[in-house]
Amino acid sequence: MRGITAFSAVAALWLASTGTGMAAPSLTVLCGVDEMWCAAMKTAYEAKSGHEISVTRKSTGDILNQIRAEKAAPTVDVWWGGTGDTHLQAGSENLLEPYQPAHERDMLPWAQNFFAMSGGRSAGIYAGALGFAYNADLLRELKLPAPTCWKDLTDTAYRGRIQSGNPNSSGTAFTTLATLVQLFGEDEAFRYLAALNRNIERYTPSGSAPIKAAARGETLIGISFMHDAVTQKQAGFPLVIVAPCEGTGYEIGAVSIVKGARNIEEAKRFVDFALSPEGQGTGAASGQNQVPSNAKSSLPLAAPDISMIKMVDYDFATFGSPEERNRLLRRFDAEIAATN
Ligand code: PLP
Repeated sequence: MRGITAFSAVAALWLASTGTGMAAPSLTVLCGVDEMWCAAMKTAYEAKSGHEISVTRKSTGDILNQIRAEKAAPTVDVWWGGTGDTHLQAGSENLLEPYQPAHERDMLPWAQNFFAMSGGRSAGIYAGALGFAYNADLLRELKLPAPTCWKDLTDTAYRGRIQSGNPNSSGTAFTTLATLVQLFGEDEAFRYLAALNRNIERYTPSGSAPIKAAARGETLIGISFMHDAVTQKQAGFPLVIVAPCEGTGYEIGAVSIVKGARNIEEAKRFVDFALSPEGQGTGAASGQNQVPSNAKSSLPLAAPDISMIKMVDYDFATFGSPEERNRLLRRFDAEIAATN
């Protein structure tokens, strides 16, 4: 009898887990930030709402491609995190649902500008500057000079010792591409990328892979968001983080509701949570170092001070437009990636 009871319990659990006996997750979220933060946000939102949700980490360009491909029958409700110019692109392709979040009045000016630029379809949740970092132990061991500028990265001393993301899939790497174009002008940026390409060991699908590889000494230099490098450094890895001398670009990470979301009311509640001090606090609590967009949120203690970094006046409207993004990616594939 005991055996039968135990079997019934297992069968009930199995039925539940296959969806036959339990409601499906009330919300499907694609998450563009670090896996640790994706997991922390899922836990915090479920605890707050009492509803189970599904959260999957993907790189920013991959999320855009999925949402585009599913336009006729969306399976995703919310796109949370990842570089905002890609959200703007989805907005201009009519893939996002406008929504006025509850906390919009508490947003810092850069986030309010971003929201207006998106036509009310996408809200800024954090900001962070781009840069690079090198493994100090490996640099010493190899007796190489310390790079301080973008142009230093083309030194033949670093041949095969740099990793960067692939801008087709990685929002970080698209920010790098757009930053270089804004810093140097397009043709000079592509000459620079061709020289840099000779030193690139590989272009990784995700934007945080290069910095994780540099942290572990698997490569010397990783191009990434500086806050991503801070997280690795806090974990004890010997990274030196560089704000390049020529200046750099930055991201505004965003949250958007997908047009045709199946659970629009839950999606709105998730967006409100993502913009609240409580929701934004899940970043610092999971070791992240972006600057939160809500003026009432606390700043992670080790967040890079973006007001002290020489920054380009990043043109989100241009680099968030489908034409410009597609044109730059085609040029990158033809002139740079094809020769790596
Ligand atoms: N990791 C961090 C810490 C970020 O801030 C972002 C962008 O918002 C990403 C990753 C984006 O990932 P990917 O470059 O793979 O699209």
